[in-house]
Amino acid sequence: MSINVTLPDGSVRSYDHGVSAMDVARSISEGLARNVLAAKVNGEVRDALRPLPGDCTLQLLTWNDAEGKATMWHSSAHLMAEAIEALYPGTKFGIGPPIEQGFYYDIDLGERVIGEGDFAAIEAKMKELAAKKSVYQRREVGKADAIAHFTEKGDEYKLELLEGLNDGEITFYTQGNFTDLCRGPHIPDTSFIKAAKVMSVAGAYWRGDEKRKQLTRVYAITFPKQKELDEHLALLEEAKKRDHRKLGKELDLFTFSEKVGPGLPLWLPKGAALRERLVNFMKAAQEKSGYEQVATPHIAHKDLYVTSGHYEKYGKDSFKPIQTPHEGEEFFLKPMNCPHHCEIYKSRPRSYKDLPIRYAEFGTVYRYEQSGELHGLTRVRGFTQDDAHLFCRPDQVKEEFMKVIDLVLLVFRALDLTDYEAQISLRDKEDHSKYIGSDENWTKAEQAIIDAAAEKGLRTVVEFGEAAFYGPKLDFMVKDALGRKWQLGTIQVDYNLPERFELEYVGADNQRHRPVMIHRAPFGSLERFVAVVIEHTAGRFPLWLTPEQAIVLPISDKYLDLARQVAGDLKDSDIRAAVDERSEKIGRKIRDAELAKFPFMLILGEKEAAEGTVSVREQGRGDLGAMSVRSFADLVNERVREQLGGL
Ligand SMILES: [Zn+2]
Ligand SMILES: [Zn+2]
Repeated sequence: MSINVTLPDGSVRSYDHGVSAMDVARSISEGLARNVLAAKVNGEVRDALRPLPGDCTLQLLTWNDAEGKATMWHSSAHLMAEAIEALYPGTKFGIGPPIEQGFYYDIDLGERVIGEGDFAAIEAKMKELAAKKSVYQRREVGKADAIAHFTEKGDEYKLELLEGLNDGEITFYTQGNFTDLCRGPHIPDTSFIKAAKVMSVAGAYWRGDEKRKQLTRVYAITFPKQKELDEHLALLEEAKKRDHRKLGKELDLFTFSEKVGPGLPLWLPKGAALRERLVNFMKAAQEKSGYEQVATPHIAHKDLYVTSGHYEKYGKDSFKPIQTPHEGEEFFLKPMNCPHHCEIYKSRPRSYKDLPIRYAEFGTVYRYEQSGELHGLTRVRGFTQDDAHLFCRPDQVKEEFMKVIDLVLLVFRALDLTDYEAQISLRDKEDHSKYIGSDENWTKAEQAIIDAAAEKGLRTVVEFGEAAFYGPKLDFMVKDALGRKWQLGTIQVDYNLPERFELEYVGADNQRHRPVMIHRAPFGSLERFVAVVIEHTAGRFPLWLTPEQAIVLPISDKYLDLARQVAGDLKDSDIRAAVDERSEKIGRKIRDAELAKFPFMLILGEKEAAEGTVSVREQGRGDLGAMSVRSFADLVNERVREQLGGL
């Protein structure tokens, strides 16, 4: 008897019954087989060594697939557990899942405490065990036998996990001397793990319950090649150097105050000015694209959020209401600007000829985040969105999407973000019942987004089932200089708020219609965006954005007045220049200016003073020669115009 296996390219191959995904891989090429970590069979990730269930679709998963990676890391957690058990007999084990970067295992070491000093021994043991090429053997186990196994071993955590499982769904995996309760899947054998690094340990309550015992969470990461581990560690080192919290302090951009409160950033003058440049850039771009600025207050009556549905959904998790002396009146800090903008739309009757209407506001919003979740500028409790809401007719969705995509790409260009793709989130293919809005409108809008992205030449991934209940969307996934992914520039269609706020326009047919609402924020929040830009550029901002574009370095105090005059002249040409007023040697001044990341250094000595010029050095490029202050100003302004795409 034979089975038909359909591969991702659509080709169908025939195999004997009982064939495994690994056998299929081998029949294609030995090289491929060496890289197969797991298999996706009829959409389900399984062990590559398990026999295929019959006719099926098959995708072989390698290190290049997210699911392949996760399988490798989860299997590495078992390997680390085996190493820990060998080194510290009697250790009990909680759970060991893969995470975004590696994996962890929660363990109970009894009286023992482990720390950084123990990491090398664990890594060495993992390497030694991995080299044994132990197969991850899957075994179905009856519940009674499973309980007997872990009772004998004395591992109460596994016994507790077993309580939640039914007979018939319990599997064990064994590699070498270690057996774990696990539903899998796993990689074929331990030899795929070539490099291991224990990263850190932390306390973690069993099952996340602070009333239960605190276990030791051991974080680690593994790779199929030593070289990849080395690269990963180098990247982490670089990320540490670029941490926006560290650079934000060094560059005098922002600070936090215990008294003001956690998660509420305070912008220092240089940071506030930088923020203002971002705002002005976006305002100029939006003005060109037909947006109108609106302004709304920071609080709103509870009724607004009852209408919008946010009260029901987020009421408990948001900040406590603000009570006014009037009985029963409750106001909330605004968590988003959309409901306010709906009310502006509603302030007078609208005709189809008025649409699209595009309301923009740099709106500051407040959302409660637990203090443990707060992180620099990326997770805060108060932040400003470059928010806008477009109200349009269904037939205008595509054109509006194309315009917003242009705006987002303008931002990426100005910030030198060149590696991105668009993720389009659509409805579940099978089930359309959980979405609000008419099927006809959804179908049209989904197609409009796909077409808009295609016409703009974007690299796209389409995700079915990822749309919100209220509309499809397009997100940009941007890779920064370190290869980390950030979600930026969300464009979201919304059928819900127009319905809840009963927004209308009178159509050409003289009938009342619902407009489509589009939410979009190219920066997202200014806070998070600045954090991304700091880490992407390592604080070497593009010329148009950087706090100081140049520093004037007088060779001696004799030229200090002239230096100040040059900085003043540059200011008149809209160029931000500082003066190094210290009585240091010129060599020292140049070195310090390079360290402080000034894009340009203007050196001023006897020759320059006599000729009415400055000697220009550019960061990273060296000497540009002597030129008049006027020529230098033209050079800077020309570069800025180029970076801003002619804005
Ligand atoms: Zn497992
Ligand atoms: Zn919105």
